[in-house]
Amino acid sequence: MLYGPRSISSERAAGVLTLNGKAYQAVSSPVLAPNLIGWIVFAAELNDEHLQQFETLAAIPLEAAVLTRSDGTWKATDTNLTASDLLRLQSDSLDTETTSAPRRLRLGGADTLVQVTPLRSFADDGHTALALRYPLSLAMRPYQALLAAILLVGLIGIVALSIASWVLARGLARPITALDAAVHDLQNGKRTEVVVETQDEIGRLAQSFNHMSDEIARREKRITHMALHDSDTDLPNRRALETALQAFHQPGVVIAFTVERHQAIRAAIGYQLAARLIGQVGARIAELVPDAPTGRLSADTIGIAAPQLNGDQALDLAAYVRDNVNGALRVDGVAVDVSLVSGVARVDNPSAHSALDHALIAVEQARATFQDSAIFNAESYGDPARNLSLMSEMIDGINRGALSLHYQPKLDLRSNTIIGAEALVRWTHPTRGPIAPDLFVTMAEQTGHIRALTEWTLIQAIADQRSMRAAGIDLPVSVNLSGRLIGNDAFTAMTITLIEDTDARLWLEITETAAMNDPDAALRNIDAYVAAGVQISIDDYGAGLSSLSYLKRIRAHELKLDKSFIEALAQNSREALLVRSTIDLAHGLGMKITAEGVETPATLALLAGMGCDVAQGYLVGKPQALQDFITFIGKPDGLRSAALG
Ligand code: C2E
Ligand code: MG
Ligand code: MG
Repeated sequence: MLYGPRSISSERAAGVLTLNGKAYQAVSSPVLAPNLIGWIVFAAELNDEHLQQFETLAAIPLEAAVLTRSDGTWKATDTNLTASDLLRLQSDSLDTETTSAPRRLRLGGADTLVQVTPLRSFADDGHTALALRYPLSLAMRPYQALLAAILLVGLIGIVALSIASWVLARGLARPITALDAAVHDLQNGKRTEVVVETQDEIGRLAQSFNHMSDEIARREKRITHMALHDSDTDLPNRRALETALQAFHQPGVVIAFTVERHQAIRAAIGYQLAARLIGQVGARIAELVPDAPTGRLSADTIGIAAPQLNGDQALDLAAYVRDNVNGALRVDGVAVDVSLVSGVARVDNPSAHSALDHALIAVEQARATFQDSAIFNAESYGDPARNLSLMSEMIDGINRGALSLHYQPKLDLRSNTIIGAEALVRWTHPTRGPIAPDLFVTMAEQTGHIRALTEWTLIQAIADQRSMRAAGIDLPVSVNLSGRLIGNDAFTAMTITLIEDTDARLWLEITETAAMNDPDAALRNIDAYVAAGVQISIDDYGAGLSSLSYLKRIRAHELKLDKSFIEALAQNSREALLVRSTIDLAHGLGMKITAEGVETPATLALLAGMGCDVAQGYLVGKPQALQDFITFIGKPDGLRSAALG
């Protein structure tokens, strides 16, 4: 078969020639003699060897293959290209007329860069193309070391970064953890010094924290000191003593030492010096009883706590302290006579609070009985807390009829007849039973309820007197009048009107001290009562601060000698002398004399012998309810001779 040039001409032709499925590089040249007689064609097979030489021309390890198409099927000079590779090439780029851009195809199971360039055909007998392949793995090979290096550097970087972060975190976290722990300790009231390891911000923070916690600890100590110490004297205070007592866990005593006349001392030398004086007394007591906790209980009182002591030992200790403190103390150059009164309370119940209170009350109990020292007497103290609402309960009792008057007869010693009766109030409390008149009358005086009580008493006494009269008993009734009301002009006017309106025959008993509260008003009102026909008795004479000038001024009809004189009359000649003198005194001033608290016939006989006018007491008759009293008097004519021998 002869392949002629594409066009018969005298020019040479060159291109790729496909023969029997093999590709040849062919060049033709016309043979002219002189006319064209033929062609000379030179052809060299483009076989593997040829292509390998071609491959060596490239700077990179290319693989070259010539692709030929005959009968519509592509073949390759390179046997490495499989049929499926050819198909893939064919579908991708073989049919293009121009050189394709390098592209990535999967050939022979590997990613390959492929560029296909159409070759000029020697004869128009089909297509030929040059496929240059460059496996991607080869293309990438020079970069793999770089990639590995980058990866290695990255890895080293990450490790280094991790280590650095860890070191940094450790460096940051450890002091912060230590700070956190110290803050927790501080919250729990414990101070921990944070170790300062660095001079950076954390170190400075630790330093600041130490400084702050130190300051807090100092301040807390100061606050605790202030809470447990008296600011004027720097002595431990009541709370400190309470705390000490709570730690006792065994019976013991509290002793309170009160500086007598403290108010007068303070008025004389001033608050500051008086406080310093108490400070000195406290320090001296602490010196004398070094093992006992001390504390300032009030402005004028120092307390000490002594475990294991009983009452008598406590009194001895109190005497020892008083003996060693009493006397002149110098404060700022001023000499002050100090005298202590002591009160002892046992700490056998768990409340330290009440033991201290009881010791303070014991001081008052000692003062009330003119002693230097006393042990707390619960019985005489009673239960003041129960009495806080007593007055409203009393008013309620008045409205509900829970109060009544009992009558105690008065016996005339010359005629041996009952010549009067004293009205004494009685109150039966719905839950507490009978309440002592001394308790609620005194409280009514202190709280201003005495007027309501006395108005009720007067009205009731007048009503009871009417009942007695109806029963044929016509006796004057003595009503006790509180000193608080004697000076009250409005009350006096009301009482006088009441008495005049009801035609009552009343006597009023007033105590000497009470009348002296406001002597002018009292004497003026007493005169008004006398003018209205009311007889006046001086009650409990001798029990208070008796004053002759008072006796001289008051226009009384009767002097009632206090029962404290009468009780001891039969045994004590001194009392007898006093009673006899008082009887003479009363008579000398134009008054009758009544002896209170007559309990024995011997006393009655003595009083009669001394010239006493009237006797009142259990011997003659106890205070009795109205009906019992009426029965007691018992005679239709109203006056029964007391059968007293
Ligand atoms: P007082 O006026 O001196 O009354 C006499 C007190 O001595 C009464 O006590 C009476 O029960 C008591 N007494 C009478 N005979 C004897 C006796 O032989 N031996 C003893 N040991 N005591 C005797 P009471 O009733 O407890 O009253 C106490 C005080 O309460 C009275 O003393 C009086 O000051 C006051 N009081 C009583 N009732 C009233 C009242 O209605 N109004 C006012 N303001 N005070 C009253
Ligand atoms: Mg009386
Ligand atoms: Mg009396």
